[in-house]
Amino acid sequence: MTENYDVVVIGAGPAGYVAAIRCAQLGLKTACVDRWTNDKGKAALGGTCLNVGCIPSKALLDSSEKFHEVSHTYNLHGINVENVSMDVATMMKRKVKIVTMLTRGIASLLKANKIDSIHAHGRLAKPGLVELLDWQTDEVTGELNAANVILASGSTPIELPNIPFQGDRIVDSAGALAFDEVPPRLGIVGAGVIGLELGSVWNRLGSEVTILEALDEFLPTADEEVAKEGARQFAKQKLKIQLGAMVESAVETDGRVEITYTQNGAQNQLEVDRLIVCVGRKPCTDNLFDEASGVQLDERGFVQVDEHCLTGAPNTYAIGDCVRGPMLAHKGSEEGVAVAERIATGVGHMNYATVPWAIYTHPEIAWVGQTEREITAAGGSCRSGKFPFAATGRAKAMEDTVGFVKVVADTETDRILGVHIIGPHASELIAEAVVAMEFYASSEDLARIIHAHPTLSEAIHEAALSVDGRGIHRVN
Ligand code: FAD
Ligand code: NAD
Repeated sequence: MTENYDVVVIGAGPAGYVAAIRCAQLGLKTACVDRWTNDKGKAALGGTCLNVGCIPSKALLDSSEKFHEVSHTYNLHGINVENVSMDVATMMKRKVKIVTMLTRGIASLLKANKIDSIHAHGRLAKPGLVELLDWQTDEVTGELNAANVILASGSTPIELPNIPFQGDRIVDSAGALAFDEVPPRLGIVGAGVIGLELGSVWNRLGSEVTILEALDEFLPTADEEVAKEGARQFAKQKLKIQLGAMVESAVETDGRVEITYTQNGAQNQLEVDRLIVCVGRKPCTDNLFDEASGVQLDERGFVQVDEHCLTGAPNTYAIGDCVRGPMLAHKGSEEGVAVAERIATGVGHMNYATVPWAIYTHPEIAWVGQTEREITAAGGSCRSGKFPFAATGRAKAMEDTVGFVKVVADTETDRILGVHIIGPHASELIAEAVVAMEFYASSEDLARIIHAHPTLSEAIHEAALSVDGRGIHRVN
């Protein structure tokens, strides 16, 4: 018998499971189909983010940061700790425990919202009909009628044609989250978000890390001064970032990886113990829909959608990493809410201009909105105010003074166009900037808001004051 649903969601990552919950809250009969299977052969909801992405990477970043602090900065507080060592197996066990707890939490949430959670591969056979395929054999095991379908199939790592992933030596980000020991020499291809975060984890634990980046510019999407300060700090931490380095091949022999790359016209070799390839991710659309369904892919392989996430097939939406826009968990979740509300009420809301970015290195990097370079390139005009954490009492007390906040505002209207932070807890601090931008605040608005003392947020206050040359704790 074919079950009937108001909505069937394919994919239970942060885009899909959030969409399913919001649909159910709005009274829609909902099913969520997901094929993710853990190493025990059991369904594990939460997609990339919970299983091999945001959560496990932050668990390891936190463990490695604590290890680094104990070994390098506790003595500044007068705390003397001797014989500090890292037990990688325990660190990994903690990571697995967190992931297990959270993926089970999603299963409970779906159940509590009366969503039918189905462990299978889902395929849109035609608008309104989702086929279920066995996640192991691909045999069709059932079908669901759906008044609306939401595709939320996520993304997978890009594999370079000349460097196939191989065992536990040449790995993608998931492999790098599961090393059983600290590799003495670690190579990374790609100085993007994953390269920097996972490079930081293993560098803090003692690996000698070399990151090979094809572009000549470091973090080109970040504010130029933030990227420059980031490069300076990572170099101080001995993360060796080689720019303009085109990797040609990587070959594993006798437990070592031999990398060949060209830089400044010269061919170079690098030998490492393990290699992480993290050169971006691609949308996951394998056997996701029938070609006659009306769903189409764009020239980069993403599911093509309009501004409301509607695909070319009637009542069929797509959200998250499988569609255009930044590959971020919170972007996918918000699209999920917007689509659920559109299905239930005819109206949904998503503001792509205020999607925050955060890179969980030390110092952290976070931003929202445009950079000065983007504003000027688009013909706009802006002025900015900057404030260093070193001039705040709280950062000094924390012994964590690297970095600054920059507030960028329109020259004529003073409306905030972007906020860029490098420094302690930047990923938390950026929330204030997102709220300000959502409410169309001016830098003057931020400057007139009382910030508690002593806090790191005072750096945002002072940066906003500095847009108008009125910073108090610095010479303007
Ligand atoms: P996914 O999370 O990829 O989920 C898609 C789900 O759909 C998966 O479970 C998949 O198995 C399933 N699926 C696919 N096709 C089918 C099908 N046909 N039938 C059934 N099921 C199917 N983002 C952040 O915002 N912050 C971070 O700190 C962050 N850290 C990251 C760290 C790493 C190492 C990685 C790899 C990514 C990180 N990301 C981070 C990115 C984030 O994980 C993704 O943006 C997010 O998971 C995308 O959500 P999604 O729901 O679109 O897709
Ligand atoms: P990325 O796009 O951030 O970085 C990939 C880097 O690899 C780029 O700098 C690119 O120039 C470089 N590159 C590409 N081909 C190369 C080659 N052949 N040789 C050398 N360098 C090459 O991608 P990523 O780091 O793989 O991360 C994928 C996505 O996951 C990101 O876009 C991000 O949205 C998401 N993510 C987010 C977070 C976070 O929000 N904190 C953390 C991890 C991942």
